[in-house]
Amino acid sequence: MPNITPFVPKEPLVKQPKKTRYSYSRLDKYTECGYRYKLVYEDKNYISEAGVAAAVGTLIHYIEESIANKIIAGEEIDYDALRKEMYEIDIPEKEPEYDADGNKKKGSEGGIYGVNRLQKMFQEEFFELDNNGTSYFTKCEEYRERGIYRLENYMKAHPELSIVAVEKEFTVEYKGNIIHGYIDRILFDSSTREYIIEDIKTKGKPFPEDKLKTPLQFVVYSLAVAKLYGLYGYPTRFNYDLPFCDMRQAAGTPGVMNRGFKKMDSIFAGIKAKDFVPHPSPLCHWCEFSPTNPNQPPKGKGLCPYYSLWSPGGSHKAWECDHKWEGNEAHEAIMEQFRVECGEPATPAQVVHDFDFSDEAEPPAEEKPKPAKKPKQPIGGRDPFGGLDF
Ligand code: SF4
Repeated sequence: MPNITPFVPKEPLVKQPKKTRYSYSRLDKYTECGYRYKLVYEDKNYISEAGVAAAVGTLIHYIEESIANKIIAGEEIDYDALRKEMYEIDIPEKEPEYDADGNKKKGSEGGIYGVNRLQKMFQEEFFELDNNGTSYFTKCEEYRERGIYRLENYMKAHPELSIVAVEKEFTVEYKGNIIHGYIDRILFDSSTREYIIEDIKTKGKPFPEDKLKTPLQFVVYSLAVAKLYGLYGYPTRFNYDLPFCDMRQAAGTPGVMNRGFKKMDSIFAGIKAKDFVPHPSPLCHWCEFSPTNPNQPPKGKGLCPYYSLWSPGGSHKAWECDHKWEGNEAHEAIMEQFRVECGEPATPAQVVHDFDFSDEAEPPAEEKPKPAKKPKQPIGGRDPFGGLDF
């Protein structure tokens, strides 16, 4: 009797839906304004934010990373060469390219510009004095003279610390959600055998106390570090490194991880429920969709009628708006009126479609591009919704 293999029909291939990849800044944007999140990630209005804050942040991150890499390698740091580079570097921005999911392809992000070029690019803003009487120009000068030595001095003053990694890429899963990003700096304390996570911010002043209690960025990074190094617990020593303030600011109070996880649960639940309510605030002044933004890009116009009228030094309160959010049902009519006010044709088909909350979300991750060995691209970006991300 011949040995006949019975015919077994193949299981039909079921294509699994691709998981969205989140970044910390994407989650943060949702907490700051759900409507802006929708405009960017659901409606795919990707608008490059080429502000002075992002450009200066990119430059300082680049210099700090170069110094950290030298320290890791145990090599001498050529400060004269770095100072020269800080002023003369000029790596042009490339046209962003996106993959099928809308994620920016590596190497297609913005450029790195030294102080000489920044002065020409942001003529007024670069020299504008803030409340402390300093400008980006004076901060860069101060950094060139003194700030540039901070990291090496700090490491020398703390022999128990070592730099484990800089611009460390990670991908981590949290309750079925994929989070991807880059950590500015990871240190290790040999005296306590703890990891310390650091994030560089080129802010002009320290964070207020309430922003230090449960910093979501560090909660995400802690998840990542635990996975990267196979730790049993989550590291909770977090520092903001503020070179323009000449200080490190510790972040995270006891219970930070549990509070952070609750925050993340609520963010993911809101995104999945398509709860995209606008949150007008002083941050609208820097939002690409706000007519009150003095540098509003043309592509951002006519998309948000709910902006706050607040402006620095102005008379309007943060809650004052030309159009109040009145729920999803009223949105189309408000949009139509707004478009007329903006001088655009009323009733565009896209507006109606744009607010179809039944659409499946498939937004791209806004992520920190990983700097290459040579001059790298921006790390993070301007984050007008949590102060400046740099
Ligand atoms: S202008 Fe204000 S309300 Fe409108 S999307 Fe931007 S942050 Fe949100």
